[in-house]
Amino acid sequence: MSTFVTLIGYPVSHSLSPAMHNAAFDSIGLDWRYKAVPVEPGRLVDAVNRVRQPDCAGANVTVPHKQAVVPLLDGLTPVAEAIGAVNTVFKRDGKLIGHNTDAAGLLADLYAHDVALAHRTVLIIGAGGAARAVVAACAGVGARLRVAARRREQAESLRNLADVEVFDLTPLGVMQASDGCALIVNATPIGMTPNINRSPWLAGTLFPLDAFAYDLVYNPPDTLFTQQARAAGLRAATGLGMLVEQGALAFELWTGQSAPRDRMRQAAEMELMVVNF
Ligand code: NAP
Repeated sequence: MSTFVTLIGYPVSHSLSPAMHNAAFDSIGLDWRYKAVPVEPGRLVDAVNRVRQPDCAGANVTVPHKQAVVPLLDGLTPVAEAIGAVNTVFKRDGKLIGHNTDAAGLLADLYAHDVALAHRTVLIIGAGGAARAVVAACAGVGARLRVAARRREQAESLRNLADVEVFDLTPLGVMQASDGCALIVNATPIGMTPNINRSPWLAGTLFPLDAFAYDLVYNPPDTLFTQQARAAGLRAATGLGMLVEQGALAFELWTGQSAPRDRMRQAAEMELMVVNF
């Protein structure tokens, strides 16, 4: 009986995770496979029950199931409980535990880019599941938080996580919200392939000086948002580093072994080229 890890999401066909994790399993000589399984919303219970079988070591969970999966699990880590969303399921003593590695994945990548956050102001654009992880991560290291979203009530719901100032996603709102910011995070899918000519940064809005622009979108490898930011003299990065780190942390929970991060990044970059070919 061979062991597998599964990705539960819908759709999953463009995920980089199978390539990244299968390369990691091979690299440490582990005879495991990572399978992306498209799970329509009505089939989530069946998919979680499949994870309970002994040949499954755990799962990643992605859109649209990150919040819906919570009541189907046996427990949550404090991080997943605080964020209210799960991207990783692992087993402990036969129980399914939900965790969230997005927040730690983001912090690790910001650290790698030398972005300091304590007592600095962060603007997050968007207020969905990933924004919740960004808020938890940045609040946890002492940043002041601002959120600009098209649905004000969705942005206000982030206040159950941290003290958040809410702004409208309009040129005026974003200009006010970004004033003095050290970090601007795109936590929307705007600009993602195939819509590569779109950006969450509205035309005519000036970037603050000396900020870092971070786009959670990693396909395309360079987004219009990061290009706009660099053209304005800012440093910028897309979210591939976060993807690799959140995957590495999940890998370590499933296998109990140190993740081969360089190999995972190489495999993710290669797959990104393949899916865009
Ligand atoms: P989500 O839960 O669907 O939330 C998306 C957010 O963006 C919502 O606030 C949504 O507003 C807003 N939005 C979507 N389209 C918009 C538009 N045209 N104009 C203004 N706002 C818009 O998705 P998510 O899970 O947070 O993911 C967001 C992005 O982060 C995705 O591209 C995902 O791939 C990426 N991500 C990357 C990583 C990584 O490791 N790099 C990890 C997690 C997520 P409404 O609710 O009003 O639609």
